Amino acid sequence: MKVIDVHCHLQHEKFTPNRDEVIAEAKKKMEFLIVAGANPQWNRGAISLSEKHKGFIYAVVGLQPVDAIKHSEKEFAEELEFIRKNAKKIVGVGEIGLDYHWVKDEKEREIQRQRFEKLLSLAEELKLPVVIHSWDAEAEAVEILSRYELKSVVMHCFSGSKEVMEKALAQGYYISFSTTIAFSKTAKKLARDCPLERILVETDAPYLDPAKGINMPWNTAIVIKKIADAKKSAEYEVLSKVVENAKKVFGIK
Ligand SMILES: [Zn+2]
Repeated sequence: MKVIDVHCHLQHEKFTPNRDEVIAEAKKKMEFLIVAGANPQWNRGAISLSEKHKGFIYAVVGLQPVDAIKHSEKEFAEELEFIRKNAKKIVGVGEIGLDYHWVKDEKEREIQRQRFEKLLSLAEELKLPVVIHSWDAEAEAVEILSRYELKSVVMHCFSGSKEVMEKALAQGYYISFSTTIAFSKTAKKLARDCPLERILVETDAPYLDPAKGINMPWNTAIVIKKIADAKKSAEYEVLSKVVENAKKVFGIK
């Protein structure tokens, strides 16, 4: 059975020298993958890759919280319009969320929250799932999310506490584990305690490579192995369930 990746950035410039080769290799090893946007340039890159590789690459587009505050009101509104216009070409809105790790200024955090909420309203209107980036702001992100009626919520590369994970699970959300699980005891414990029905896997490639180089989307195989170890279950069992979960969340046939 082939692996999947629900969150990677193949539009990243790190893949420019060998993107075609990476995608050809991915097609041998993987059933499908999802390329996530985060800024206007990456959003266009994600959609164009999904159009070039229909039925294999899917796109989600959004404004990552650190990036979201860099734009003027006009630019932000234009990007919301871009997402709305391309709603039929995407399988979700993301990555969006809150990042208090990189953004410490209270005024900037307020802009982050306002823009996060505008993106959530849009996802609600478009009936699309959301992919959430939250760093040092997990509890607040989950609280804000609870006020929206979203098709599905994916906590991308989740790094919050067990308590926040339980709250997210109680609200029906999915927890996406990344390749950081290879070197994180905390992630292994969270995976052990997260029901398989709510688990997704991702690499965030080119980031988070366990070997400290350029991560590759098929390295979700490592994530699956670590989750299976943590849960003392078979790898094929974890894999078949995460594939089923991903198809359900993102409406992939
Ligand atoms: Zn990412």
